[in-house]
Amino acid sequence: MTDPTSSAAFEALLARRGGDLLILIDDRLRIVRSGAEAAPLAARRETSLRGMSLLAAFGSASLDAVARQAVSSGAATSGEADLGRLGARHFAVDAVPLVDGGLVMSLHDITALRRIERVRRDFVANISHELRTPLTSIKLLAETLSSGTVDDTPTMRDFATQIERETDHLAQLVDELLDLSMIESGETKLALEALDPQEVVADVVVRISPVAERSEVRISPLPAPASEARALADPARLSQALLNLAHNGVKYNHPGGEVRIGWEIADDRVRFSVTDDGMGVPEAHQGRIFERFYKVDRSRARERDARDLGGSAGLGLAIVRHIAEAHRGAVGLRSEEGIGSTFWIEVPRATEHADADG
Ligand code: ADP
Repeated sequence: MTDPTSSAAFEALLARRGGDLLILIDDRLRIVRSGAEAAPLAARRETSLRGMSLLAAFGSASLDAVARQAVSSGAATSGEADLGRLGARHFAVDAVPLVDGGLVMSLHDITALRRIERVRRDFVANISHELRTPLTSIKLLAETLSSGTVDDTPTMRDFATQIERETDHLAQLVDELLDLSMIESGETKLALEALDPQEVVADVVVRISPVAERSEVRISPLPAPASEARALADPARLSQALLNLAHNGVKYNHPGGEVRIGWEIADDRVRFSVTDDGMGVPEAHQGRIFERFYKVDRSRARERDARDLGGSAGLGLAIVRHIAEAHRGAVGLRSEEGIGSTFWIEVPRATEHADADG
């Protein structure tokens, strides 16, 4: 079918090209030879693709188009193609015509790269969205003030207070983003210590109390379990995670509501939990709630903003998850809409001989 020269060159290439997929086709776009990795990507069951047309084998019009272009122009051609089940993998494709007829096609898997690009795009879009709302408010308020249409002091004061509040939201957003990126990148080194869980709980209760009081939500520690244990964790990070959970327990609650913080032993871990009798998380959202920027619904966030309970960018739980992961722990929730939620974070349990510098 093909001249031995191209076959020999192809075999040599096949042996050398590490991750890339190589396919040798003739001028009629029929497969002469392909690397072993080609079969799993084919739209057909056949393990040998020899003799099949490129289109029949892979079911990809974009791959076929690159090959056609290379054959008709007689010049090296590049493009991109989706292959695999439901086009799940994305490839950069190069087709190089051979002097003695046919083409060598080289397919480089860029699925991961495309995924990273998409995540980055979503991230920028989300941040822009979160920045736009407070910025628009600040601009409107400042414009009204500088236009001179408002000249009574109480209203001017009120506008200034609103500007201050929006600026606080922006500052909080920036802090959360920085925290998240530090923890995600693994740049923050954990200073692990063997901690008394009941002390950790007591400290969080004290620190969240002023916010809870303002919202008329009661906050209390659960009684300590009978058996003793120590948690091996970075005290600042663990408190930050629990404060985020406790703050949510207050934010997504109602006046007269209650938040309780406790801990228990869960095998080789210590599980801290924050239980509230607030609005709960609808089941459909529970799977995604720890993703960054994820909010159950924006009107809830607005209602909460109106009660001035701090910004709501949907980053708090993502930070909690990352803190848990940095400790090789885990997070989770149990929640029922209209009844309440229990959010938990697990960190390793310190053994008696645990090295606190771990
Ligand atoms: P946010 O800054 O919006 O509070 P989080 O990441 O902390 O961001 O929470 C994500 C979303 O999960 C919130 O917008 C809210 O809808 C929901 N949520 C979090 N905690 C609770 C809770 N204790 N009760 C009900 N809903 C909650």
